[in-house]
Amino acid sequence: MFVSLLCRVSDIIGKMNSIPDLHTHSTASDGTLSPTELVTRAAVAGVRVMALTDHDTTAGVAEAAAAAHRQGMVLIPGAEISVTWGGRTIHILGLGLDVTYPALCDGLGRLVAHRQWRAEEIGRVLAKAGIDGAYQGAKALSNGRLISRTHFARFLVQQRRADNERDVFKRYLVSGKPGHVAGDWATLEDAVGWIRASGGQAVIAHPARYGLTRTKMCKLIGQFQELGGEGIEVVSGSHSRDEAFVFARYARDNHLLASAGSDYHGPEKPWIQLGALPALPDGCTPIWADWMLEPTLATVG
Ligand code: AMP
Ligand code: MN
Ligand code: MN
Ligand code: MN
Repeated sequence: MFVSLLCRVSDIIGKMNSIPDLHTHSTASDGTLSPTELVTRAAVAGVRVMALTDHDTTAGVAEAAAAAHRQGMVLIPGAEISVTWGGRTIHILGLGLDVTYPALCDGLGRLVAHRQWRAEEIGRVLAKAGIDGAYQGAKALSNGRLISRTHFARFLVQQRRADNERDVFKRYLVSGKPGHVAGDWATLEDAVGWIRASGGQAVIAHPARYGLTRTKMCKLIGQFQELGGEGIEVVSGSHSRDEAFVFARYARDNHLLASAGSDYHGPEKPWIQLGALPALPDGCTPIWADWMLEPTLATVG
């Protein structure tokens, strides 16, 4: 007879002795590996549960899910949503999304359209600063549908405007520099709203990267929780160990679920690897603690 079995994600992880990687990028946004290449590489690195969280799009999720199925892995459908909050850009991860949910698709579609406008504008301001062809160059390095500042950074490195992407950002792409164009992204309310309405959980991505004072961070967390946000990234490829402990404390003090993700963008940045995340600090409640796998039909007796 057929019975349905529910399996706890935390049991899989416990057996495999690896924690999930809930923040990764593919060529659907600014990663350099296709969804299939990314998932395959994660499998080889021992990752059993991962989320694909491309910037403002879920376009890579179906391909990643198919690759994960072949590898016997669990793929969490996700996105990293660009948000303007208090005059800054912050990133909100959505995990466990229904990628067909209309309000989510419409909202992400508007952000991708805004990215297109911004990319053309970045091209114009760089041309004024004496750098021609940047929009076409960045577009050629992208998938043609979603353009990120990362694509401009890669183009400018190729053009020998700087030695590496980090330097390009510092010299051209951040506030006050010649290639900077301020984005006008989703509101926190919209981003968390789309995530929740599509059945997902909202997580504040890499909180140490925003340079917020303690007062502002508490304000962000307060507003985020009022809107129904549940999690904060404690372990991140862009966090130091000390920063992980700081945000473990924020998580505990504010009853936020703790998430973990590499923010992997591809093998070109060898200091961020798949399958190398440290454990969450003690006392955190992992966001995956109660996650169950889809019911599986199994034959017994
Ligand atoms: P965008 O969302 O198009 O504004 O681009 C943001 C992306 O640029 C981030 O997700 C990172 O991948 C990358 N990025 C931002 N700041 C830096 C930096 N200082 N160095 C290298 N990459 C960066
Ligand atoms: Mn990125
Ligand atoms: Mn981010
Ligand atoms: Mn990211």
